[in-house]
Amino acid sequence: MKKFICIMCPKGCHLTVDEANDYQVSGHSCNKGVKYGKAEATHPVRVVTSTVLVEGGKTPLCSVKTADGIPKNLVLEAMKEINRVRLQAPVTIGDVAIKNLLNTGIDVVTTSEMKSA
Ligand code: SF4
Repeated sequence: MKKFICIMCPKGCHLTVDEANDYQVSGHSCNKGVKYGKAEATHPVRVVTSTVLVEGGKTPLCSVKTADGIPKNLVLEAMKEINRVRLQAPVTIGDVAIKNLLNTGIDVVTTSEMKSA
């Protein structure tokens, strides 16, 4: 049995996932909890948010995030890749900062804009 707290809404249901019984989920109040519990037990993913350096901008940092969840076990390596990025101003929301992060098929995109200095 694995136990998780569902993060899909503020209620925070305490989920139990029975790996020996086809990953049956209990403790949920809605179907989002079933989906979340199964995913956490089988292949947990996380959306990574961070900042990257921008050269020639009005401020030195621009916020970024992965366009979708990446495998949880790649988060630390992803942060190292993100920390290597240097963008050049101007930056607009949705610019690709890293294409195909760690061969996940997921891009890192900007979530704020940066005008040139
Ligand atoms: S199971 Fe449903 S109600 Fe409970 S925390 Fe998850 S999303 Fe919210």
